[in-house]
Amino acid sequence: MRYAEVSVNSPIAQRRTFSYTIPSGLSIGVGQAVWVPFGDKLLQGIVLELTDYPAVDETREIAAIIEPYPLLSPSQVLLAHWISQHYLSPVFDAVALMLPPGFERKVVTFICPTSHEGDAPSLTQRQRNVLELVRRQGKVTLRELEKALGTRQARLVTSQLIGQGLVVKSYELEKVKVRPKKVPYLSLAVEAGKARQEAARLREQGKAIKQASLLDFLSQASKPMPLAEARQRVNCAKAVADALVNKGLVVLQPIEVKREPISYQGITPSYPLTLIPAQESAFKSIKSSLLQVAKGYPPPVFLLHGVTGSGKTEIYLQALAEAVRLGKRGIVLVPEIALTPQTIERFASRFPHKVAVLHSKLSLGEQFDEWQRIRDGESDVVVGSRSAIFAPQPDLGLIVIDEEHEWTYKQQDSPHYHARQVAIKLAELTGAVVILGSATPDVETFYHAQMGDYRLLELPERVTPSEGSPMPQVEVVDLRQELKAGNRSLFSRSLSLATAKAVASGEQVILFLNRRGAATFIQCRSCGFVLGCKHCEVALTYHFAEDALICHQCNYRMPVPQICPRCLSRRIKFLGIGTQKLEQETSYTFPQARLLRWDSDVTKRRYSHQEILGKFRAHDADILIGTQMIAKGLDLPLVTLVGVVNADTGLNLPDFRAGERTFQLLSQVAGRAGRGILGGKVIIQTYSPEHYAIQAASKHDYASFYDKEIDYRRQLRNPPFTQLVRLTYSHTNDALCQREAERMKRLLIEERDSKGIADLSLIGPAPAFIHRLRGRYRWQLILRGSELHSFLSPIPIPQGWTVDIDPVGLV
Ligand code: ADP
Ligand code: ZN
Ligand code: ZN
Repeated sequence: MRYAEVSVNSPIAQRRTFSYTIPSGLSIGVGQAVWVPFGDKLLQGIVLELTDYPAVDETREIAAIIEPYPLLSPSQVLLAHWISQHYLSPVFDAVALMLPPGFERKVVTFICPTSHEGDAPSLTQRQRNVLELVRRQGKVTLRELEKALGTRQARLVTSQLIGQGLVVKSYELEKVKVRPKKVPYLSLAVEAGKARQEAARLREQGKAIKQASLLDFLSQASKPMPLAEARQRVNCAKAVADALVNKGLVVLQPIEVKREPISYQGITPSYPLTLIPAQESAFKSIKSSLLQVAKGYPPPVFLLHGVTGSGKTEIYLQALAEAVRLGKRGIVLVPEIALTPQTIERFASRFPHKVAVLHSKLSLGEQFDEWQRIRDGESDVVVGSRSAIFAPQPDLGLIVIDEEHEWTYKQQDSPHYHARQVAIKLAELTGAVVILGSATPDVETFYHAQMGDYRLLELPERVTPSEGSPMPQVEVVDLRQELKAGNRSLFSRSLSLATAKAVASGEQVILFLNRRGAATFIQCRSCGFVLGCKHCEVALTYHFAEDALICHQCNYRMPVPQICPRCLSRRIKFLGIGTQKLEQETSYTFPQARLLRWDSDVTKRRYSHQEILGKFRAHDADILIGTQMIAKGLDLPLVTLVGVVNADTGLNLPDFRAGERTFQLLSQVAGRAGRGILGGKVIIQTYSPEHYAIQAASKHDYASFYDKEIDYRRQLRNPPFTQLVRLTYSHTNDALCQREAERMKRLLIEERDSKGIADLSLIGPAPAFIHRLRGRYRWQLILRGSELHSFLSPIPIPQGWTVDIDPVGLV
């Protein structure tokens, strides 16, 4: 094998690889990172294939190896090819998903001695000095020589030495910069006795009592105290510490602490629970499949369908243990937001010191360390968010995707991959069993299970560790009736009463607001009617700029009506309120309750999810107000009431998955209540109480939701019965954008007709849901058909377009 097919890190490379000659003496393997000449540059590349013949007549030589060992495993190389083909993304984009964090770092050029030992007599003194230095040190960076000799001299001398075969250049990636983590510590600047005197003096004067307490506290401590801990123990603000610093009584200094994504301190080992019968039978199927796969049978995909609290995680844990027993390892994906210390602890306590975590909130240094640990085979279980599917986990035997219906498993930029699809492909390539877990499986996933592509395992009930916590009771409140009764508040009479009662009994309440899509559609407040497109059965979206309602599928437009077309009421309004408004009205309605707001505005900071949750769990607040985030898997035993302020906002998004999304959210929200011994109640406020998604969610009835939904999908020829692709064009000029989208449509229709493809339709072009984003207008075209990536693959798609295969949301 004298040639290598290399995926090159250049935007020009697109979906191609390039042929290079392997210089003699260089041993190169598939998956290895190399430097290759590309145009007049030296670029990073990954070897994807070794061949006897190049794909082109003239090839250049690979310049050097970047890392001595392959960075991608053979199955990852195949996976990268598949991602590039399936999602029509540049090969290097796909490859880059699997490279160690921070791979695209600066290159460091080294000068190293060759095996040629003799001393060429013709060397100048300067050349001789450099040669000696290089031989003595083994390798010297070019930068060092440049500093010592000046750039020109250094380059001249080294190229002369290279010419004589005495030294060679080699390239290495700059080390990942790991910034040490520092935490502020407090300590006394004076003797403990003096500090106590000072504290007593302050107390006598009746001034600065907090300062006195802090001084007393620090005078008892034998070593510096983390500021956060001291503040908590004394219950004081940072200003108190600052005041003492200014008086010269204490010092505040940053101290370096050890960084470890998982702190095993305080985590006690846990042991497998005795499974209840439903768990037992599900586990048996998984266990026997793991054994079968070990004997060479093809691995199955399981869909583990069970409500929150039905014991899915316990099954994941035992299945992972089984895989480990068979000499295999696992990857567990959870939605980023569920990657809490509690979640990690559940895995870490079952597999002490054998769990790695990967997610975007880790620093680059932490990610890099974890990546290395995983690659070296030190973790039996990798727990992480979406991209953890690309962890270099050796001996992969089991992949778990918890909450498999979550939309965050789809990456929104190139490559637009879906972690579930990728996991299933990877499992096929490596012979791993897949478990998809959910209380509300994605309709497409459930369809596959129904068709026998996946194996369905059901956990019909909660494990109910304590008597009397079945699924919560759900009440659906018709907001039209509230208006008729003269109630214009955001709180229906029922929700208002229940909230007051819960707060008075010392219980906790969650108020949930689905803000997505708010204020983008209009609805009649008398009859609940939402204006939809005549052609597409999706809600029309209001555009401020044009003051018009627009269909985001077909571009149909109409002015905003003054009266409701159905009931002729004038109370036709834009819907949508924010969490801040809700917070205001809540504090006004329940002045005695302590409120806590949780939405993305408040949680931009790292760990603040944890802080907010911690506060709520510690009962520092009575009512938690928030958006989607609230819906995720949290265990809050004091919560007895969950109120959904307006269930309709998500329903009216111009997307065929709006019903599914609403059902999933309401089910998750409903699952929040009643997890403690107190039981719970859910109140859903809506203008469309008869909607099947709301009906089914209120009865915890996945089956009836699925039956309706799959029927609609079949009738309207939506996935899983067809495949969709979204093509989006963006440009600063709106008219140009529209013209390009129309041109593309004509081109695609020509292609389709010339190939005689019958089942391919084009919808649009229409403005994207977010028509203008960061100063650029966006127009989109939707393709509906089958095998669309094969159809699109040979078609040249100009710059400015993005292609999203199997988009999860059309908005
Ligand atoms: P899910 O992942 O479906 O939400 P979990 O596995 O977290 O469910 O289980 C819910 C609760 O029930 C957890 O506190 C868990 O420890 C407990 N649990 C799960 N299985 C059992 C069992 N077989 N026996 C006793 N408790 C269990
Ligand atoms: Zn009306
Ligand atoms: Zn339309």
